[in-house]
Amino acid sequence: MTVSTKTHLPVDCVLAITYNCNSRCVMCDIWKLKNQPELLPMEFLKLPASLRDINISGGEPFLRLDLPQIITNLKKAVPRARMVISSNGFATDLIIRQMKAVLAIKPDIGAAISIDGIGETHNQMRGIPGGFDRAIDTVKKLKELGMRNLRLAYTATNMNIEHLSKVYNLSRELDIEFTHSYAQSSEFYFGGKQNVQNPSVESLQKQYEYLIKQELKTFNLKRWLRAYFAYGMCKFVSSKNPILSHAPGRDFFFLDPSGDIYPSVVHNIKLGNIKEIVNFGQFWCSDEMEEKRKLVNAKNIPVWMICTARSAMRKHPFQVFGWIVKNKLL
Ligand code: SF4
Repeated sequence: MTVSTKTHLPVDCVLAITYNCNSRCVMCDIWKLKNQPELLPMEFLKLPASLRDINISGGEPFLRLDLPQIITNLKKAVPRARMVISSNGFATDLIIRQMKAVLAIKPDIGAAISIDGIGETHNQMRGIPGGFDRAIDTVKKLKELGMRNLRLAYTATNMNIEHLSKVYNLSRELDIEFTHSYAQSSEFYFGGKQNVQNPSVESLQKQYEYLIKQELKTFNLKRWLRAYFAYGMCKFVSSKNPILSHAPGRDFFFLDPSGDIYPSVVHNIKLGNIKEIVNFGQFWCSDEMEEKRKLVNAKNIPVWMICTARSAMRKHPFQVFGWIVKNKLL
Protein backbone atom coordinates (compact mmCIF):
# COMPACT_ATOMS: atom_id res chain seq x y z
CA MET A 1 0.00 0.00 0.00
CA THR A 2 1.51 3.34 -1.04
CA VAL A 3 0.89 6.38 1.15
CA SER A 4 -0.26 9.71 -0.22
CA THR A 5 0.75 13.01 1.35
CA LYS A 6 -2.29 14.77 -0.15
CA THR A 7 -4.70 14.17 2.70
CA HIS A 8 -5.25 14.36 6.44
CA LEU A 9 -7.02 12.11 8.87
CA PRO A 10 -10.81 12.49 9.37
CA VAL A 11 -12.27 14.66 12.13
CA ASP A 12 -15.93 13.67 12.03
CA CYS A 13 -17.83 10.41 11.68
CA VAL A 14 -21.17 8.66 12.10
CA LEU A 15 -20.98 5.17 13.58
CA ALA A 16 -24.10 3.05 13.05
CA ILE A 17 -23.40 0.38 15.66
CA THR A 18 -26.54 -1.69 14.94
CA TYR A 19 -29.42 -1.84 12.45
CA ASN A 20 -31.66 -3.34 15.10
CA CYS A 21 -34.48 -0.85 15.67
CA ASN A 22 -37.70 -0.72 17.69
CA SER A 23 -39.28 2.09 15.67
CA ARG A 24 -41.46 2.06 12.52
CA CYS A 25 -40.47 5.34 10.90
CA VAL A 26 -42.05 6.51 7.66
CA MET A 27 -38.82 8.09 6.37
CA CYS A 28 -36.46 5.19 7.11
CA ASP A 29 -36.67 1.42 6.53
CA ILE A 30 -33.85 0.34 8.83
CA TRP A 31 -36.43 -1.19 11.19
CA LYS A 32 -37.34 -3.69 8.45
CA LEU A 33 -33.79 -5.14 8.43
CA LYS A 34 -33.32 -8.30 10.47
CA ASN A 35 -30.24 -10.14 11.78
CA GLN A 36 -27.66 -7.77 10.32
CA PRO A 37 -23.99 -8.40 11.20
CA GLU A 38 -22.48 -6.21 13.93
CA LEU A 39 -18.90 -5.33 14.83
CA LEU A 40 -17.37 -6.58 18.06
CA PRO A 41 -16.55 -3.78 20.53
CA MET A 42 -12.79 -4.35 20.03
CA GLU A 43 -13.02 -3.26 16.36
CA PHE A 44 -13.77 0.32 17.50
CA LEU A 45 -10.23 0.49 18.95
CA LYS A 46 -9.00 0.89 15.38
CA LEU A 47 -10.64 4.30 14.86
CA PRO A 48 -8.21 7.21 14.39
CA ALA A 49 -7.40 9.54 17.31
CA SER A 50 -7.87 12.49 14.91
CA LEU A 51 -11.67 12.31 15.31
CA ARG A 52 -13.26 15.25 17.13
CA ASP A 53 -16.97 14.51 16.70
CA ILE A 54 -18.59 11.09 16.77
CA ASN A 55 -22.29 10.47 16.32
CA ILE A 56 -23.19 7.02 17.64
CA SER A 57 -26.24 6.02 15.69
CA GLY A 58 -28.17 3.04 14.40
CA GLY A 59 -30.73 1.61 14.29
CA GLU A 60 -31.36 2.17 17.96
CA PRO A 61 -27.90 2.18 19.63
CA PHE A 62 -29.26 1.47 23.13
CA LEU A 63 -30.49 -1.94 21.96
CA ARG A 64 -26.84 -3.05 21.89
CA LEU A 65 -26.34 -4.40 25.39
CA ASP A 66 -22.55 -4.08 25.02
CA LEU A 67 -22.89 -0.31 24.44
CA PRO A 68 -20.82 0.52 27.58
CA GLN A 69 -17.98 -1.65 26.25
CA ILE A 70 -18.15 0.13 22.88
CA ILE A 71 -17.96 3.52 24.64
CA THR A 72 -15.01 2.31 26.73
CA ASN A 73 -13.14 1.37 23.56
CA LEU A 74 -14.08 4.55 21.74
CA LYS A 75 -12.79 6.60 24.66
CA LYS A 76 -9.50 4.66 24.56
CA ALA A 77 -9.09 5.05 20.80
CA VAL A 78 -10.36 8.61 20.44
CA PRO A 79 -9.87 10.34 23.80
CA ARG A 80 -10.45 13.87 22.49
CA ALA A 81 -13.67 13.24 20.58
CA ARG A 82 -17.04 14.67 21.56
CA MET A 83 -19.64 11.90 21.40
CA VAL A 84 -23.40 12.00 21.04
CA ILE A 85 -25.71 8.97 21.01
CA SER A 86 -28.76 9.34 18.76
CA SER A 87 -31.85 7.50 19.98
CA ASN A 88 -35.56 7.28 19.22
CA GLY A 89 -36.12 7.35 23.00
CA PHE A 90 -38.76 4.61 23.03
CA ALA A 91 -37.13 2.02 25.34
CA THR A 92 -37.05 4.37 28.34
CA ASP A 93 -36.02 1.91 31.08
CA LEU A 94 -33.32 0.29 28.95
CA ILE A 95 -31.97 3.68 27.85
CA ILE A 96 -31.74 4.98 31.42
CA ARG A 97 -30.05 1.78 32.62
CA GLN A 98 -27.52 1.84 29.78
CA MET A 99 -26.94 5.58 30.06
CA LYS A 100 -26.04 5.29 33.75
CA ALA A 101 -23.28 2.84 32.80
CA VAL A 102 -22.18 4.98 29.84
CA LEU A 103 -22.01 8.18 31.93
CA ALA A 104 -19.76 6.40 34.44
CA ILE A 105 -17.32 5.87 31.54
CA LYS A 106 -17.75 9.17 29.70
CA PRO A 107 -19.55 11.79 31.81
CA ASP A 108 -19.67 14.43 29.04
CA ILE A 109 -21.31 12.19 26.44
CA GLY A 110 -24.43 13.63 24.80
CA ALA A 111 -27.78 12.17 23.79
CA ALA A 112 -30.05 13.29 20.96
CA ILE A 113 -33.64 12.08 21.26
CA SER A 114 -35.77 12.17 18.11
CA ILE A 115 -38.91 14.32 18.24
CA ASP A 116 -40.43 15.01 14.84
CA GLY A 117 -43.56 16.82 15.93
CA ILE A 118 -45.89 17.33 18.84
CA GLY A 119 -48.13 14.42 19.94
CA GLU A 120 -49.83 12.54 17.11
CA THR A 121 -47.58 14.05 14.42
CA HIS A 122 -44.56 12.44 16.05
CA ASN A 123 -46.43 9.17 16.57
CA GLN A 124 -47.35 9.04 12.87
CA MET A 125 -43.82 9.92 11.74
CA ARG A 126 -42.35 7.18 13.93
CA GLY A 127 -45.20 4.66 13.53
CA ILE A 128 -45.41 4.10 17.30
CA PRO A 129 -48.65 4.87 19.17
CA GLY A 130 -47.81 6.83 22.31
CA GLY A 131 -44.25 7.30 21.02
CA PHE A 132 -44.19 11.03 21.73
CA ASP A 133 -44.99 10.54 25.42
CA ARG A 134 -42.40 7.78 25.72
CA ALA A 135 -39.66 9.85 24.08
CA ILE A 136 -40.43 12.90 26.25
CA ASP A 137 -40.42 10.69 29.35
CA THR A 138 -36.94 9.48 28.32
CA VAL A 139 -35.73 13.07 27.89
CA LYS A 140 -36.99 14.01 31.35
CA LYS A 141 -35.39 10.95 32.96
CA LEU A 142 -32.07 11.64 31.20
CA LYS A 143 -32.24 15.18 32.59
CA GLU A 144 -32.80 13.73 36.05
CA LEU A 145 -29.55 11.77 35.62
CA GLY A 146 -27.87 15.17 35.46
CA MET A 147 -27.12 15.04 31.73
CA ARG A 148 -26.30 18.49 30.41
CA ASN A 149 -25.48 17.49 26.83
CA LEU A 150 -29.02 16.68 25.80
CA ARG A 151 -30.96 17.64 22.67
CA LEU A 152 -34.15 17.09 20.71
CA ALA A 153 -33.39 15.91 17.17
CA TYR A 154 -36.04 16.81 14.61
CA THR A 155 -36.23 15.25 11.12
CA ALA A 156 -38.29 17.22 8.61
CA THR A 157 -40.44 15.75 5.85
CA ASN A 158 -43.47 17.01 3.93
CA MET A 159 -45.61 15.51 6.70
CA ASN A 160 -44.27 17.52 9.62
CA ILE A 161 -42.55 20.66 8.35
CA GLU A 162 -45.11 22.84 10.19
CA HIS A 163 -43.91 21.31 13.48
CA LEU A 164 -40.30 22.47 13.20
CA SER A 165 -40.92 25.66 15.19
CA LYS A 166 -43.10 23.75 17.70
CA VAL A 167 -40.38 21.19 18.43
CA TYR A 168 -37.84 24.00 18.64
CA ASN A 169 -40.04 25.78 21.21
CA LEU A 170 -40.41 22.52 23.14
CA SER A 171 -36.61 22.23 23.34
CA ARG A 172 -36.53 25.76 24.80
CA GLU A 173 -39.20 24.84 27.36
CA LEU A 174 -37.22 21.74 28.34
CA ASP A 175 -34.07 23.88 28.40
CA ILE A 176 -32.15 21.52 26.14
CA GLU A 177 -30.60 21.91 22.71
CA PHE A 178 -32.26 21.46 19.32
CA THR A 179 -30.83 19.82 16.20
CA HIS A 180 -32.53 19.13 12.90
CA SER A 181 -32.11 17.32 9.62
CA TYR A 182 -34.13 16.70 6.49
CA ALA A 183 -35.18 13.18 5.43
CA GLN A 184 -32.86 12.08 2.65
CA SER A 185 -32.58 9.10 0.33
CA SER A 186 -29.78 6.58 0.34
CA GLU A 187 -29.02 3.47 -1.69
CA PHE A 188 -27.56 1.67 1.33
CA TYR A 189 -28.51 3.57 4.51
CA PHE A 190 -32.06 4.25 5.82
CA GLY A 191 -32.75 0.66 4.69
CA GLY A 192 -32.42 1.97 1.12
CA LYS A 193 -35.43 4.28 1.59
CA GLN A 194 -36.05 6.83 -1.16
CA ASN A 195 -37.53 10.00 0.31
CA VAL A 196 -38.89 12.26 -2.39
CA GLN A 197 -39.70 15.51 -0.66
CA ASN A 198 -41.47 18.42 -2.32
CA PRO A 199 -42.03 20.75 0.57
CA SER A 200 -43.99 23.95 0.22
CA VAL A 201 -41.29 26.59 -0.17
CA GLU A 202 -43.46 29.05 1.78
CA SER A 203 -43.80 26.70 4.81
CA LEU A 204 -40.16 25.78 4.64
CA GLN A 205 -38.96 29.36 4.65
CA LYS A 206 -41.38 30.40 7.37
CA GLN A 207 -40.24 27.59 9.67
CA TYR A 208 -36.52 28.05 9.10
CA GLU A 209 -36.75 31.84 9.32
CA TYR A 210 -38.35 31.47 12.74
CA LEU A 211 -35.59 29.11 13.88
CA ILE A 212 -32.80 31.31 12.50
CA LYS A 213 -34.27 34.44 14.09
CA GLN A 214 -34.56 32.78 17.51
CA GLU A 215 -31.00 31.43 17.39
CA LEU A 216 -29.50 34.72 16.23
CA LYS A 217 -31.29 36.62 19.02
CA THR A 218 -29.12 34.84 21.60
CA PHE A 219 -25.58 35.68 22.70
CA ASN A 220 -24.27 32.19 22.18
CA LEU A 221 -21.74 31.39 19.45
CA LYS A 222 -22.84 27.76 19.20
CA ARG A 223 -26.40 28.84 18.53
CA TRP A 224 -25.32 31.38 15.91
CA LEU A 225 -23.50 28.55 14.15
CA ARG A 226 -26.72 26.55 14.36
CA ALA A 227 -28.55 29.46 12.75
CA TYR A 228 -26.08 29.27 9.86
CA PHE A 229 -26.59 25.51 9.62
CA ALA A 230 -30.38 26.10 9.51
CA TYR A 231 -29.90 28.71 6.77
CA GLY A 232 -27.88 26.12 4.82
CA MET A 233 -30.59 23.52 5.37
CA CYS A 234 -33.35 25.80 4.07
CA LYS A 235 -31.29 26.63 0.97
CA PHE A 236 -30.39 22.97 0.45
CA VAL A 237 -33.94 21.65 0.68
CA SER A 238 -35.32 24.30 -1.68
CA SER A 239 -32.45 24.28 -4.23
CA LYS A 240 -30.64 20.93 -3.64
CA ASN A 241 -27.37 22.87 -3.53
CA PRO A 242 -25.20 22.97 -0.41
CA ILE A 243 -24.03 26.49 0.47
CA LEU A 244 -20.48 25.25 1.24
CA SER A 245 -18.33 22.66 -0.47
CA HIS A 246 -17.75 19.39 1.41
CA ALA A 247 -15.07 16.71 1.44
CA PRO A 248 -16.88 13.38 1.93
CA GLY A 249 -14.47 10.53 2.53
CA ARG A 250 -11.74 12.97 3.52
CA ASP A 251 -12.93 15.01 6.52
CA PHE A 252 -15.58 12.50 7.61
CA PHE A 253 -16.91 9.02 7.03
CA PHE A 254 -19.79 6.72 7.85
CA LEU A 255 -19.19 3.30 9.41
CA ASP A 256 -22.01 0.76 9.08
CA PRO A 257 -22.69 -2.00 11.65
CA SER A 258 -20.80 -4.62 9.62
CA GLY A 259 -17.66 -2.43 9.52
CA ASP A 260 -18.01 -1.10 5.98
CA ILE A 261 -16.76 2.48 5.61
CA TYR A 262 -18.45 4.96 3.25
CA PRO A 263 -17.75 8.65 2.54
CA SER A 264 -21.17 9.53 4.04
CA VAL A 265 -24.61 7.97 4.42
CA VAL A 266 -25.57 9.03 0.88
CA HIS A 267 -22.33 8.19 -1.00
CA ASN A 268 -22.58 4.56 -2.06
CA ILE A 269 -18.88 3.93 -2.58
CA LYS A 270 -17.35 1.45 -0.18
CA LEU A 271 -13.96 2.69 0.96
CA GLY A 272 -13.00 -0.38 3.01
CA ASN A 273 -13.94 -2.46 6.02
CA ILE A 274 -12.60 -1.72 9.51
CA LYS A 275 -12.10 -5.44 10.19
CA GLU A 276 -9.51 -5.59 7.40
CA ILE A 277 -7.70 -2.40 8.46
CA VAL A 278 -4.50 -2.79 10.47
CA ASN A 279 -3.46 0.88 10.55
CA PHE A 280 -6.23 3.46 9.93
CA GLY A 281 -3.77 6.24 9.04
CA GLN A 282 -2.14 4.18 6.31
CA PHE A 283 -5.52 3.09 5.00
CA TRP A 284 -6.93 6.65 4.93
CA CYS A 285 -3.86 8.23 3.35
CA SER A 286 -3.17 5.53 0.76
CA ASP A 287 -3.05 6.26 -2.97
CA GLU A 288 -5.81 3.68 -3.43
CA MET A 289 -8.04 5.80 -1.23
CA GLU A 290 -7.21 8.90 -3.30
CA GLU A 291 -8.46 7.02 -6.37
CA LYS A 292 -11.73 6.22 -4.56
CA ARG A 293 -12.11 9.89 -3.57
CA LYS A 294 -11.95 10.81 -7.25
CA LEU A 295 -14.96 8.54 -7.82
CA VAL A 296 -16.75 10.19 -4.88
CA ASN A 297 -16.07 13.67 -6.27
CA ALA A 298 -17.16 12.63 -9.77
CA LYS A 299 -20.57 11.59 -8.38
CA ASN A 300 -21.02 15.12 -7.01
CA ILE A 301 -23.93 14.17 -4.73
CA PRO A 302 -25.36 17.24 -3.00
CA VAL A 303 -25.57 16.88 0.77
CA TRP A 304 -26.17 19.10 3.83
CA MET A 305 -26.12 17.17 7.09
CA ILE A 306 -24.59 18.16 10.41
CA CYS A 307 -21.73 15.63 10.09
CA THR A 308 -20.75 16.98 6.67
CA ALA A 309 -21.58 20.63 7.30
CA ARG A 310 -19.57 20.84 10.55
CA SER A 311 -16.22 20.30 8.84
CA ALA A 312 -17.29 22.45 5.87
CA MET A 313 -18.11 25.32 8.27
CA ARG A 314 -14.75 24.93 10.02
CA LYS A 315 -13.05 25.29 6.65
CA HIS A 316 -14.95 28.43 5.61
CA PRO A 317 -14.90 30.63 8.74
CA PHE A 318 -15.07 33.97 6.88
CA GLN A 319 -18.14 32.95 4.92
CA VAL A 320 -19.87 31.65 8.07
CA PHE A 321 -19.02 34.59 10.33
CA GLY A 322 -19.70 37.09 7.54
CA TRP A 323 -23.24 35.69 7.30
CA ILE A 324 -23.67 35.70 11.10
CA VAL A 325 -22.52 39.32 11.50
CA LYS A 326 -24.68 40.52 8.61
CA ASN A 327 -27.81 38.72 9.80
CA LYS A 328 -27.26 39.45 13.48
CA LEU A 329 -27.03 43.18 12.69
CA LEU A 330 -30.09 43.03 10.45
S1 SF4 B 1 -34.89 6.74 11.61
FE1 SF4 B 1 -33.85 5.84 13.37
S2 SF4 B 1 -35.51 5.16 14.68
FE2 SF4 B 1 -36.39 5.42 12.65
S3 SF4 B 1 -36.26 3.39 11.64
FE3 SF4 B 1 -34.44 4.58 11.08
S4 SF4 B 1 -32.90 3.96 12.57
FE4 SF4 B 1 -34.90 3.36 13.43
